[in-house]
Amino acid sequence: MKLLARLRHAWSMLDSRNLRVSAAACPFCGPSVFVRLNATEAGVRCIRCAASVVHLSIGYALREVVGDICHGDVCEFSAAGPLVDFLRRSARSFSGSEYQPELPAGASRNGVRNEDVQHLTYSDECFDLITHTEVMEHVPDDAAAFAELFRVLRPGGMMLFTVPLSSHHDTIERARLADGQIEHLLDPVYHLDPFRGGSGVLAYRDYGTDIVGRLQHAGFERIEIVVPRCRVRWAGIRPVIVAQRAGHDSTHA
Ligand SMILES: [Zn+2]
Repeated sequence: MKLLARLRHAWSMLDSRNLRVSAAACPFCGPSVFVRLNATEAGVRCIRCAASVVHLSIGYALREVVGDICHGDVCEFSAAGPLVDFLRRSARSFSGSEYQPELPAGASRNGVRNEDVQHLTYSDECFDLITHTEVMEHVPDDAAAFAELFRVLRPGGMMLFTVPLSSHHDTIERARLADGQIEHLLDPVYHLDPFRGGSGVLAYRDYGTDIVGRLQHAGFERIEIVVPRCRVRWAGIRPVIVAQRAGHDSTHA
């Protein structure tokens, strides 16, 4: 059924005028073929694992920056997909989750744990590696979230993540929560969310390169915006933000 659903999804995205295929090395499944189903970034996929450009970017960054994760305890803020499959089969332990506000904090439904990145239920210093893709722009209080992510990371541990990142310095706040109500500062922008579907999830901000300062404020050191050396044909690559918690040498690298 998974394959059938994937084929249906691919068919729905297909624009035959822009169809291209090319041999490529996938960071998750090795030698593979990438396909361009249409002219958008989202139309480029690995045909073996269906990884998108965002997932391929963080996969290449993991290989280039972190290396072998087999001795690491890993946390990712999604619960399905090619990145999750890779982390689950490669790491010593893996915890995936989705934000499901209708559930109690830390509870699970259909095997999917609920975590709010602003108030994590994980204990202090329990992960060697944390990953997330296109999450933080949807979090109302990103300072609280970065502080929580720092708290659950072990000394020496690393966090790799993507957000839509502009080349400008200043982050633009698009919305904020005031007394539990969303206040729009700019026209609302919604990003599609494969877990929730529907019309998408509100983006609270457009990050600039001052995201480095936000991570420093939460306590992270050695923060870099890494552009992986590998490129995805037709789509380039996404920058990946790498932040490390200071401490003794990490054992996962
Ligand atoms: Zn793949």
